[in-house]
Amino acid sequence: MPSIKDYTIATLGSHSALQILKGAKDEGFRTIAICEKGKSEPYRSYRVADEIIEIEKFANFFEVEEQLKAKNAIMIPHGSFVSYIGAEKVRDITMMHYGTRGILKWESDRVKSREWLVDAGIRVPKIFASPEEIDRPAIIKFHGAKGGMGYFVAKTPAEFYERISEYPEEKDYVIQEYIVGVPLYTHYFYSPLHDELEIMSFDKRYESNADSIGRIAAKDQLDANIHTSYTITGNIPIVVRESMLPDLFAMGRRVVEKSRGLEGVGQQGLFGPFCLEAIVAPDLKFYVFEISARIVAGTNPYIDGSPYTALRYDVPMSTGRRVAREIKEAIEGGRLKEVLG
Ligand code: AMP
Repeated sequence: MPSIKDYTIATLGSHSALQILKGAKDEGFRTIAICEKGKSEPYRSYRVADEIIEIEKFANFFEVEEQLKAKNAIMIPHGSFVSYIGAEKVRDITMMHYGTRGILKWESDRVKSREWLVDAGIRVPKIFASPEEIDRPAIIKFHGAKGGMGYFVAKTPAEFYERISEYPEEKDYVIQEYIVGVPLYTHYFYSPLHDELEIMSFDKRYESNADSIGRIAAKDQLDANIHTSYTITGNIPIVVRESMLPDLFAMGRRVVEKSRGLEGVGQQGLFGPFCLEAIVAPDLKFYVFEISARIVAGTNPYIDGSPYTALRYDVPMSTGRRVAREIKEAIEGGRLKEVLG
């Protein structure tokens, strides 16, 4: 029988690497963390990596690809992997790679991902084609902005032009209707081996300064000219109202079904971990403003499992470990090709 001893699990040392590597070790794999020089301490300290390979910058990843191939390593992509290597270059990777590579281009393109979501019958916030159309609160997001930094809210075209002048170098942005409600990020896992969709957990982000601005009175905010920003600093676990679960499962399944046959994706479609990032309005309508087609950092609070994985598994099951378990089953069942893309 093919054995997992012949393989290694590798990922870049950032984002959700701790749980990916810990999960892989729990399933019996050898692990490699590829770290930027000077940033490997967490991976050493937490004992999650059997081996650490240091490179100057993540963008230089291709320098070590042959070395990884020689170790029969399987790369687990995460958010930093996509943003440092680029959705285009991900296609040039020749080592084994978990998940559909073509899908990363869809998730990283706001127009394309919206098309996919709408096609799957998912409610999305309105997009304003030009600043002149702004007739209600809108959130302005810069493309490729790292972790929400620099996003701002404007209610009128005049306010938009005033605020955008602070970012003269930014030409690529989207103007989205601002939905008043609570953020809810649903962490899914779709297994092509079992044709089963799981909901692993939920989170919301801990954003600076959006999550602290309510600590000062509105008048003081105005006096001090404080504007809201959305820089991610961490993640907060959530358990949802149980009656929302059927809809959340249905939404996830439709997104998986509609991913099949997308240009450059093939019939294999989306599989493994993914996340729908939504605002839930007071009428309990979900407005999905983004999809991540790989593991999200919002799963990090659940290294020891979530309340939902506790229902489904008898061991602590993080999303990182779920990925490793899927790969292990695929290897042992001679189906590895079905989870590589
Ligand atoms: P994003 O970078 O698209 O994930 O958005 C960063 C943060 O901005 C989210 O966590 C939300 O708090 C907020 N946000 C994004 N889009 C919207 C929206 N359409 N309405 C309200 N808040 C939003």
